[in-house]
Order: sequence, then structure tokens, then C-alpha cells
Amino acid sequence: MKDTDILLVKPVPPLIVEALDAAFTLHRLYDEDDPEGWLEANGGRVRGMVCGNFPLDADLLDRLPALEIASNLGVGYDSVDVAAAKARGVMVTHTRSVLDDEVADTAWALVLMTVRGLARADRYVRAGRWQSEGAFPLARHSLKGSRLGIIGLGRIGRNIAARAEASGMEILYHGRHEQADQPYLYYGDLREMARDCDVLLNCAPGGPATEKMIDAAVLEALGPEGYVINIGRGSSMDEAALIAALEAGTIAGAGLDVFEDEPEVPQALRDMENTVLLPHIGSATIPTRTAMFQLVVDNLTGWFGRGEALTPVPEMEGA
Ligand code: NAP
Repeated sequence: MKDTDILLVKPVPPLIVEALDAAFTLHRLYDEDDPEGWLEANGGRVRGMVCGNFPLDADLLDRLPALEIASNLGVGYDSVDVAAAKARGVMVTHTRSVLDDEVADTAWALVLMTVRGLARADRYVRAGRWQSEGAFPLARHSLKGSRLGIIGLGRIGRNIAARAEASGMEILYHGRHEQADQPYLYYGDLREMARDCDVLLNCAPGGPATEKMIDAAVLEALGPEGYVINIGRGSSMDEAALIAALEAGTIAGAGLDVFEDEPEVPQALRDMENTVLLPHIGSATIPTRTAMFQLVVDNLTGWFGRGEALTPVPEMEGA
């Protein structure tokens, strides 16, 4: 495999760089003085690449005519034009399954921090307000007996549902399909589910199909006692509508791990007391990230060593 050319467009963690450097001929586009010139001269030799931290679009794919596989770092691959890759016979893989529990734990922490006001309570103690103002205000809801509406009951969503069940919540879900093997109540209409739940949690993929799906109408349906949690993608939330709803009291609060324009987080969201804001850390532990990095490498070594990708994205099945 050492004579196989692999491209890094943007920097990736050392584990990936070192493993790929040992197994392949590795090119770092970000180190080139003239990346366009390098692509012009050498793009035709590249057979594999790592993606996920830049847009892999038809234009870039056209400059890599020998590309066989793009190994995406992350389970979400909305930065990859999969249709364009598939049309050119390029395999796309992602790091599914190895992060499900980690992301579900983060989601569940975000629910508790937001709905039970735990992040705000921490700030209350630090600011000395316990002594000066007395007891912290009571939370509106107990999780037990409340209704959680999950958008995207997939691998991560089902792990979140298990945590919600342990907390005594009733679970509803929305997706494009009803899942016959799931015991939870299905809603084909997102607004209807928002109307019927206390906590609306998004863990669906990003991309055009889910763009701004949580809009003003959905937030209005959620209502002034309702909380929205987003651990999926920032693109699925209409952030301007969210800010307006929080300012107007249309909803009670929001817990967000993902944003429209990361790492930019609107000042309005930062200034509010009823928001909890995390810097996209759903899977951010050393063991889980290490497993993801290893899977990025294993997909490439599997492909070039045995002609087999380990974890293709669903669109590749039967390709
Ligand atoms: P998954 O197993 O593929 O599940 C995705 C779920 O979303 C499916 O149940 C699917 O159900 C639903 N869905 C897909 N398209 C939809 C649409 N247009 N409208 C409504 N529902 C839709 O994926 P996963 O492994 O659970 O990961 C889910 C997402 O979590 C990733 O794509 C990524 O964006 C996000 N994520 C975030 C972090 C973080 O750090 N915050 C970490 C990992 C992943 P139907 O097929 O029935 O529609």
C-alpha cells in the first residue's frame, strides 16, 4: 500500500496522520504553498482521502479523478456531496456506531443542564447569589412524567431514548419512517410532535433535507413551557427563529451542542440565562475520539489492503 497516494486537505489528529504516513504515501494539501497548483499537478494520483472537516463537493472530486475512497471523520457526513461521489464511483465511509453512547450521554447531560437548570444553578453558586438571594428557583418540569420528542430515532436517538426511559420520560419520535420495532409513539409531522412534547431533541443528520426544520412554527408549537435541545447539526435549526422565540418567551429554553456557523455563537444566545451552550463536544472523549480516528484509518487500510470498506455511508449500500 505504500505506493498508494492519500490526501489530507485539512489537518487531522496525529493518530490519523501517523498511521496513514506509515501505511501510505501521504500528502498534506494544507502544507502546500500553492494548493491549487498541487492539485492540478498531482490530483490525478490521489486514490484515497480523509474528509469531514471541509466541503467535499463535485468541483474537488473532479480534480481527483483517480479517487476511490473518501474516509469521513465523524458519523455525520453532510459536508460530503455523496451523490456526486457515488456518480464518480467513489466510496464514502463514516465513523458510525463507535460514538453512540458518548453522544447520548452528552445529549442527556444537556437535557438535565437545560431543563433542570443545572448550568444556571452552578453559575448561581459561583456568583455568590445563594447567600445574597436565597434558594435557587424551582425547575418547571420533572423529567419523570414529561414527554421527550426525539427527531431522528437512529443509533444515537435510540441510545438517548434508553436514558430518557431510565429517567421516567415518555418518548415520542419523528423521522421519515415509522419504526415497527420501536415501542415509542411515531409522529410523521414534526409540528404535531412539538405540540405534544415538553422537550424537543434533535439528533437527525444535517444537510438539505433537514435544513432549518426546527423553524418558528415548530418552536411556536413547542410552546412557552417547552425546551429544545440540539445535538444533531446546527443547520437543522433556524437560529434566528430560535433567538426570536427565546426573546419572546415563545419557548422556555434551549440546550445546544451545535450551531449554524461554528465556532461562531450569536451573542444573543450567549447573553441569555435560559440557554446552555456546548462547543460541539458530543463525542469528545479520548477513548471515543480514538476509536473514531482508528476507524477513519481502518476504512482506508481495509479498502486498499483487502478491497473492503468497513463502514460505508448508507447511500453506498448496493453501490
Ligand atoms: P442514524 O443512525 O443514521 O440516525 C439518523 C436518524 O435521523 C434516523 O432515525 C432517520 O430516520 C432520521 N432522519 C434522517 N433524515 C431525516 C429527515 N430528513 N427528517 C427527519 N428525520 C430524519 O444516525 P446517527 O448515527 O444516530 O447520527 C445522527 C446524527 O447525529 C449525525 O448525522 C450527526 O449529524 C449527529 N451527531 C452529532 C454529534 C455531536 O457531537 N453533536 C456527534 C455525532 C453525531 P428516518 O430514516 O426514518 O428518517
